[in-house]
Amino acid sequence: MKKGLLIVYSGLSGVGKGTILKKLMPMEDLNLAYSVSMTTRKPREGEIDGVSYFYVSKKEFLEAVKEGKLLEHARFVDNDYGTPKDYVEKMRNEGKNVILEIEIRGAKQVMEKCPDALSIYIVPPSMEELERRIRARGTEDEETILKRMSKAREELKEVDSYKHVVCNDDLDKAVEEVRNIILEEMNK
Ligand code: 5GP
Repeated sequence: MKKGLLIVYSGLSGVGKGTILKKLMPMEDLNLAYSVSMTTRKPREGEIDGVSYFYVSKKEFLEAVKEGKLLEHARFVDNDYGTPKDYVEKMRNEGKNVILEIEIRGAKQVMEKCPDALSIYIVPPSMEELERRIRARGTEDEETILKRMSKAREELKEVDSYKHVVCNDDLDKAVEEVRNIILEEMNK
């Protein structure tokens, strides 16, 4: 069986990458498996342990790092995030295309370790629109919003590391574009 793709999927906080992904996941021909990350961040309302993230303590996170259980990990606005390695390998060996929704520093670690990874970065139509979307989500306090916006400006300077950059101006178009990128890679 052909080994599944490793897809690094990133975009600024609030850009709508989660919404795009929700539309892609049920598309059977894409054969996707979502890699659930480990994080020290507290769950937001509606998030489910083991589905959205594995919520762990700082101590548990550091143990996972020490034991080499993470494919990559990074700190993002006061919290740690990382990708459990075993699940990714297991799914790829079963022929699934595994999607890692991760931030840029972790993404770079993965690209270095696995140069054949497919990488996609979602950008907003503008920074003003991004801030509006983060505020509309209403899940972060003012200080966190400002930190996330400052992080966003920093991160945008580095999108060139990704093979594909997709603008989420129109949701359906962005979904179609990401879908086509994955299909093309699958057919190589
Ligand atoms: P949030 O707190 O909004 O869920 O996620 C914050 C950022 O962390 C997002 O850019 C998200 O893609 C990223 N992230 C989520 N899981 C991981 C992970 O396992 N590793 C890394 N490096 N970043 C992650």
